[in-house]
Amino acid sequence: MHLYRPEEECGIFGIFNHPEASNLTYLGLYALQHRGQEACGIVSSDGENLHTHKAMGLVADVFGDQNTFSKLPGSAAIGHVRYSTAGSSVIKNTQPIMVEYSRGAIAVAHDGNIVNAQLIRSELEAYGSIFQTSMDTEIIVHLLATARDDSLVERITTALERIEGAYCLLFLTESRMIAVRDPYGFRPLCIGKLGQSYVVASESCALDLIEAELIRELEPGEMIVIDKNGMSSCMPWKKVKPQPCIFEFVYFARPDSFIFGKNVYMVRKQMGRQLAREHGIEADLVIAVPDSGVPAAMGYAEEAGLPFELGLIRNHYVGRTFIEPQQSIRHFGVKIKLNPVREILKGKRVVIIDDSIVRGTTSRKIVKMVRNAGASEVHMRISSPPTSYPCYYGIDTPNRKELISASHSIDEIRKYITADTLGYLSHEGLTEAVGEENSSYCTACFSGDYPIRFQNMGRNPQLDLFEKEYIK
Ligand code: AMP
Repeated sequence: MHLYRPEEECGIFGIFNHPEASNLTYLGLYALQHRGQEACGIVSSDGENLHTHKAMGLVADVFGDQNTFSKLPGSAAIGHVRYSTAGSSVIKNTQPIMVEYSRGAIAVAHDGNIVNAQLIRSELEAYGSIFQTSMDTEIIVHLLATARDDSLVERITTALERIEGAYCLLFLTESRMIAVRDPYGFRPLCIGKLGQSYVVASESCALDLIEAELIRELEPGEMIVIDKNGMSSCMPWKKVKPQPCIFEFVYFARPDSFIFGKNVYMVRKQMGRQLAREHGIEADLVIAVPDSGVPAAMGYAEEAGLPFELGLIRNHYVGRTFIEPQQSIRHFGVKIKLNPVREILKGKRVVIIDDSIVRGTTSRKIVKMVRNAGASEVHMRISSPPTSYPCYYGIDTPNRKELISASHSIDEIRKYITADTLGYLSHEGLTEAVGEENSSYCTACFSGDYPIRFQNMGRNPQLDLFEKEYIK
């Protein structure tokens, strides 16, 4: 039986009708780097052929050489950044996937995770399909190739009728770019314009970088087709109640992005305000675990009337290739990434804000670090509820047994991380901060209410966040 590598934490970007398509896709991917640091790739179309370049590594490394772009000619391109968990990451599992089949060439880039991948793959293999990769995205390509419909749009419609899970997809053929957001709308996807060009991106921050104007987000269940005649849209799949991922707001998306109808920074700040209302405490100052905890910490400080300080400074240059030099200083872990400002913390009652506790490793190390820097009290505040359930829709979380809050009470977690007090934002507080007016969000990681049932997929453990290979 195959072990699947779910397409986790990815970013996609595409542009149609621009003379520098691959160059701008490179920039777009650069802005989406936070959604995936393991590998990246671009496929371009010159109107007759598709061209591809992909490799393991960060965008700047993979596309650092200007000559690369001469190998990616044409006025349309799609790109992908990939984060997947540790283990047998291999080049063949990079995206976009490009194939030639009876109807021509097609490339696809995917953000999300298909939950019935194993089932469909077994079926396809029973009928003789041969798979090149262990990515669930390849299943879409096989379903496309075997669909009997005449037009590509119909074939995509038929193929995706079989697919369950989270998927934002970008397809590129010689003459068209097609964008799809799944009916639940788990992951964000937006469309913009740059002059006469159309741009599609996981997050609006990628549009900003190339100075494209945001037109709107794709609706859940929407397919947009862009070709030389312009853009057309359809909603060919059965309607379901949309459930965008609330964790995009909590941690994953960039604060400057506009997703699910809101600016991420403002939502995070609101979470912090709400957290202060729920878990106020007598203290001298508020600090954040940078960078993800910063907006919530500012909201908390504002609401609590406490000063916000940069008590922890982050080294932004900790890359994936960092190699710990010597056995003697091996376990410096979090210290390589964060350093306390002693003058700020000494003798102070400190509130520390982070966005989430997954296994508890980070909080434990940070509480210790802040105490060692002289803080007299350390109060940990988390701007989301306890993460008690794994995500099967595209966010990398470890197995349930590794999630500390799945098996420990809040007071047990407090003891483990050695904080004086610990407070999590309530479920109600989170949904209020996010604003439930238009949609109800997928909160499966906090509530265990999974919108789509899933198979028990082979999962890889999450990287140890402060071991060698992690950047946030
Ligand atoms: P842990 O040390 O396992 O408790 O991880 C908690 C830290 O990881 C927090 O600082 C979060 O900002 C961060 N975090 C939360 N979710 C993820 C994720 N899916 N991938 C990487 N980092 C995460």
